[in-house]
Formats: sequence, structure tokens, C-alpha cells
Amino acid sequence: EVDPAWTAVEAYVAPLVAEGADAVAVRTAAADAGLPDIAVSSAQGRLLELLARAVGARRVLEIGTLGGYSTWWLAQAVPADGSVMTLEVSDAHATVARTSLAAAGLQDRVDVVVGPALESLDRLVAAHVAPFDLVFVDADKQQLAAYLDRAVTLSRPGTLLVVDNVVRGGAVVDADHPDDRVQGVRTFLERAAADGRVDGTVVQTVGEKGYDGFALLLVR
Ligand code: SAM
Repeated sequence: EVDPAWTAVEAYVAPLVAEGADAVAVRTAAADAGLPDIAVSSAQGRLLELLARAVGARRVLEIGTLGGYSTWWLAQAVPADGSVMTLEVSDAHATVARTSLAAAGLQDRVDVVVGPALESLDRLVAAHVAPFDLVFVDADKQQLAAYLDRAVTLSRPGTLLVVDNVVRGGAVVDADHPDDRVQGVRTFLERAAADGRVDGTVVQTVGEKGYDGFALLLVR
């Protein structure tokens, strides 16, 4: 559940986050299309933008597009000749995202790839595409460990991996938790901790989206 203090602070810092009309339009279009309310918050979107700019990202990979809200934050953070490839299993979600991102004038920077992300990732690995500078993972948590593996393969030293929803209201500490998303996160975190290719941490977050957190991993 959401503590009113968390949303009050989120509203208080809104001027700093400065969610503009284009981002509002992307968010609103997703809601109007009946998509679930599971996009990142504006504060988290802004964090993605700042991380992308901080690492000088030109090539961004996203797993889990939904209506393109986080995609919008990432796409306007890369230079005009940069790119965001975003993987989405739902044709309906991808259509909403494409329409919104085109309306925001970002269609030339964004490639929405429809299909199960693992298959898309394996195709990218097989094609030996150029490494990505930042990878944002925000799809089915059951497959996080597999996504980690592919994401590192598609990276270079210094690539930043950002993985959303790894705290799950604190449920992540429960080894016997019945939710397979919690188990997916646990497997991912154990795998990441043992993976000599990355250095990582988890930042716990509270806000309008409740109590959760990001894993941040830097590829060695
Ligand atoms: N990143 C989005 C944002 O913040 O605006 C939210 C993404 S939403 C939490 C998760 C998305 O992942 C959904 O649109 C869902 O359809 C998609 N998804 C779920 N399983 C998937 C899979 N196996 N491959 C690709 N996308 C998947």
C-alpha cells in the first residue's frame, strides 16, 4: 500500500522533475487505451533520463514497453542520432507506444520490437549488434535472470543495467514466497551477485508506486 507521505513528497518534488506536456500525453494515451497503470512514475522516468545522460547513452535497450512512457524519457535523453530499442510482447501495447512516440516526434529514434523479449534478445545476440550503453529491464520478472545474461552479452564495459521492481514491497527477502515474480527477482539477484561481469547495488524506493526498488548494475 502507499503511504500518503510518499505521494505528498512526490507531488512536492514535481516541479524539480518537470514532467512536460509530451510525457503527460504519453501517460494519458496509455490510460485512455486501457493499459494497466504499471509504468514508472514521473520521478522514476526522470531518473532514467538522468542516468542515460550521465552515462552519455547513445544506444539504449528497454525490455517492457507498455505504452511507451519510460521509452519517452529514455528517447528524449539520447542525442538526435541516438536510438532506443524497446521490446514488447503485446501487439496492442506496442501500437499504443508507437502512436504516442510518433506524436512526440521521437519515431526516428525508437524501434518497438514486438515478440517475447527472450526471443528478441537472442536474435540481437546472434546478429552481434553493437553494444548498448544502457539497458532498462521492466518486463516479466520470472525471466529476469535470463534477461540479465542476455543484457550483459549485449553490453560493453561501462554499460549500465537498470532493473525495476526488485524489492516488491519487501517480499524479496522471503525465500518461500509463493509469487513467481518474487522468486524471479530472487534468482536474478543471486545470479547478479555471483556474476563476475557486473558490479551492482539495489536502491529501495517509495513513492506513488508504493515500496519497491531498482537494481543498478555496471558492466565491468
Ligand atoms: N517500462 C514501461 C514503463 O515504465 O512505461 C512499463 C512496462 S510494464 C511494467 C511491463 C511490460 O512488459 C508490459 O507491457 C508487458 O506486456 C511486457 N511483457 C511482459 N512479458 C513480456 C515478455 N516476455 N516479452 C516482452 N514484453 C513482455
